[in-house]
Amino acid sequence: MDLKLKQYINGNWVDANSGNTRDIINPFNQEVIATVPEGDESDAKAAIAAAREAFDHGDWAYTPATERGAIVRKIAELIERDKEELAYLESLDTGKTVEESRGDMDDIAGVFRYYAELADKDGGEIIDSPVPNSSSKVVHEPVGVCGQITPWNYPLLQASWKLAPALATGNTLIMKPSEITPLTHIKVFELIEEAGVPAGVANLVLGAGGTVGSELSTHDDVDLISFTGGIVTGKKIMESASSNVKNLALELGGKNPNIIFADADFDIAVDQALNGVFFHAGQICSAGTRLIVEESIHDEFVNALVERVKKFKLGSGFDEDTQMGPLISAEHLAKVEKYVETGIKEGATLAVGGSRPEDPELQNGFFYLPTIFTDCTTDMDIVQDEAFGPIITVEKFNEETEAVKLANDSIYGLAGGVWTNDSAKAERCAGKMRMGTVWINEFNLYFPHAPWGGFKQSGIGRELGKLGMEEYTQTKHIFQNFKPEPLNWF
Ligand code: NAD
Repeated sequence: MDLKLKQYINGNWVDANSGNTRDIINPFNQEVIATVPEGDESDAKAAIAAAREAFDHGDWAYTPATERGAIVRKIAELIERDKEELAYLESLDTGKTVEESRGDMDDIAGVFRYYAELADKDGGEIIDSPVPNSSSKVVHEPVGVCGQITPWNYPLLQASWKLAPALATGNTLIMKPSEITPLTHIKVFELIEEAGVPAGVANLVLGAGGTVGSELSTHDDVDLISFTGGIVTGKKIMESASSNVKNLALELGGKNPNIIFADADFDIAVDQALNGVFFHAGQICSAGTRLIVEESIHDEFVNALVERVKKFKLGSGFDEDTQMGPLISAEHLAKVEKYVETGIKEGATLAVGGSRPEDPELQNGFFYLPTIFTDCTTDMDIVQDEAFGPIITVEKFNEETEAVKLANDSIYGLAGGVWTNDSAKAERCAGKMRMGTVWINEFNLYFPHAPWGGFKQSGIGRELGKLGMEEYTQTKHIFQNFKPEPLNWF
């Protein structure tokens, strides 16, 4: 592997201070694919010091935005140049199909391009002043030193939503990938260096959440923490970020409803309901794992899903005919198995799946069969808890208001879908669904211009779109009196 396999701190490629390392495992066959430094608090502190110095005494924050935009655009070009290598590394590390990873790399380059274009579009605003002979302007400045923590499911995609806007707006940063999927992060930091980002501006520290991640969210020299991951970790980070009242952006989990009305185009809804869940074996925060189906078509719909699911081809992400790869780790597989046990105990009906595959060729990988539970109700844990695996729960409804009520019965509010040919009905539902994104006759579509984030416990703040850039700026009002006069009050 032609990759540096080091951390990137203050413009240097370095091992962990402790000398510790971690083996990175291929989820398809459990082979060790790379050994990387296992940083800890001391590595995080060194990276924070570098980012602080680069922000406080370097030029990056004051570099013309057009120049910063050009560097961010260069990163996009380098990602496009090295797309095949990046896609290969992402699939090796996560097990997802290489076709999915290629699509991710196109999206990632698109995110860098989008923020490159936006970089110099914010010239501030002159506002009306109540005082004669004065000026009043509002400017947006970088927040400062940003800690960025990403999960393992879409490693580089999630990183791009943080790196591109932070760099475009003149912040400095320390990125910590999930400890089990660091490879594409390392590669992209090679490209960040090649694109000409000055030393100290962008730093990469590898290591565990409880050490490196915790240091980033607690340290007083970090001004903003942007986290994507699970709700339990998100709550901890929110607490530790209070140490110095950090700016906080949280992209947390989801348990996303997908409402299927009887008047939807049946075949398309079946097809898209499957796409909505089973990409990357259901390990997607926005997976539409809660199907809410109108009773009159429920049985036919479930049968159609089951027939298709039985034909899924599981295998290596590098085989062209593979549709679904393995889960990420043994630990995660155990969590998914437990979830299915819970469903059975709760009285849901297993329509298909519910076990590991028997295929001898898949025994070394963390595979789980695509699974569908019917007879589900909102009081069941399997309907409320995020499984983050290839599992659908199906609920029934009769009335439009009932469908929306079921969809909203969740602590989460990340995304949801509505399938119907009645656009007025779709708009009514979308208006009442308490989620950051609602797709109508669509599912799981992301693009750089549209903001992404959660209602309720799915998070705080937005990534992507203009709002995703605003997360990395703070607003300053500058008032100047050209003709000051005494008040003669005191
Ligand atoms: P996780 O919370 O276990 O870990 C995420 C990251 O946080 C990792 O880098 C981890 O090392 C770090 N971390 C762990 N403990 C920490 C601590 N105490 N302090 C600081 N950092 C810590 O999540 P995961 O299992 O990697 O990812 C899956 C979760 O991510 C799912 O819940 C999924 O829904 C969510 N997710 C959300 C979005 C979104 O856009 N809303 C996108 C992708 C994934």
